[in-house]
Amino acid sequence: MKQIINGKTAITQAVLDSHVEHIVGVPGYPITDIMEELFNTPIQSKWCVNEKIAFESCIGASGVGKRSLVITKHVGMNVLADPLVTSTTHTIGAGIVVIAGDDPGAKKSQNEQDSRYYGLIAETLVFDPSTPQYIYDAIMEGYRLSEKTMAPSIVRITSRLARLKGEVKRRVWKMPAARVFDRSIWDYTLEGKHQLFHQTSYPAMQEYVENTQMNKIVRRGSTGIISSGYPSGLAEKIAEEKNISHLILNAVNPLPARHVEKFLKQHQRVLVVEETEPFIEHQLYDRVLGKHTGHLPYGRINSEHISDALENIHLNSVKNTIEPQKIKHRGYGVYLCRNCPFTPLYDALDDFDFPVAGDVGCSILMAPKGSVDLAVSLGSAIGIALGFNNKGVAVIGDFALAHSGLQGIINAVQNDCDLLVFVICNGIAAMTGGQQAVDLKKVVASMVKDVITVDAKSATRDVYTTIINEKITKKGVSVVFLDGTCPKDASFQIIKF
Ligand code: SF4
Repeated sequence: MKQIINGKTAITQAVLDSHVEHIVGVPGYPITDIMEELFNTPIQSKWCVNEKIAFESCIGASGVGKRSLVITKHVGMNVLADPLVTSTTHTIGAGIVVIAGDDPGAKKSQNEQDSRYYGLIAETLVFDPSTPQYIYDAIMEGYRLSEKTMAPSIVRITSRLARLKGEVKRRVWKMPAARVFDRSIWDYTLEGKHQLFHQTSYPAMQEYVENTQMNKIVRRGSTGIISSGYPSGLAEKIAEEKNISHLILNAVNPLPARHVEKFLKQHQRVLVVEETEPFIEHQLYDRVLGKHTGHLPYGRINSEHISDALENIHLNSVKNTIEPQKIKHRGYGVYLCRNCPFTPLYDALDDFDFPVAGDVGCSILMAPKGSVDLAVSLGSAIGIALGFNNKGVAVIGDFALAHSGLQGIINAVQNDCDLLVFVICNGIAAMTGGQQAVDLKKVVASMVKDVITVDAKSATRDVYTTIINEKITKKGVSVVFLDGTCPKDASFQIIKF
């Protein structure tokens, strides 16, 4: 039966039809909504404190014969990379699919990274579907191939793709019974596991990408486009209008080398259209045009970018005239909620000239204003502060502390470091939709002697100034928990310039 659904629902249907039994994720744009839709299915689905734990639980589920799914935003791929990379040669049992939500344009993320590269590092299949039907097929195929190759599959999606509507035909595939982990892999040395992987699993992946119906060629003129992901739909409209051939790769890793080679030989000029980085283009360097030749921008791709690139297709390179966007050019800034109970802490920090490490929760919003100096990734504030001179100062949320910040405190205690940590305890992940955060006060107090809790409802700037003056000169680790609740009507201030 065919139906018109969006990419998000295509994911839910494919997961149901693949008989998945274990779903885990970590909230964040653009995957929170996908997970919330999966919560409405009968499949056991849970938010995890971090992506590494989420992926590890899938390895366990896979070992005992349960198909599993990890849903993470792109930066979460960095966190789960350790078990992901080793899982391919360790081998798995039942299929594991990782859905990586990329954010071209960094609308609600700290960067624009491209999750497809993890396919190269982990040597695993990567699908970059271009329509809801291909999302559905990629997940179904992802499980089938994951069990065949005994390695996880990655399906990369983006926010625009998750919202895109299209016709989807559900398949009544008879999925074979899920595998359990085969212990005979332990007969091999670690080197031997990698050798075996390259004699069996990786060739099976290469064979698959060369022959799958997921990759589609439309032959037209002597100019060609190779594309993947959401921009394929934009490119196809233009290619049809301009009589340009089009190779749409929905399975991008391993790159279908024979298929691509044939396409290159049949066309005089070939443009690669992809988000976010030149993943395909890097593998075809000097033989194609795209981001590295200046024909297309890095990051998010729009129809105008493709049309402009085709206007310049006769040129070997195009001068990049894009001025890197500044907040003042964008025309608005995002700041703490007007009635945020934690504002007095930042006001107090403004009076001191030591550096402050923030996190990618609400504290990152205070970076352009100057209250925090560095804010890199979720849970990183404490580790960063450990590199500062004197007593390093960090501001971190309770969700980020549980995600990966706690290890920073453990490290500080183990190494007798001087560290002052402010933990914003609002009980939720405020930036990603209010998912619950764990209260770690007792855990921290079991390691750190100097722990106090401040009631953020009543604490003024002067209260925080006194605390900072007292703690900053004290040796060792000091942790200050700020207990507060985000007001019900809290919403970030958008200030237009
Ligand atoms: S969400 Fe909560 S913690 Fe974040 S700025 Fe708003 S009120 Fe403050």
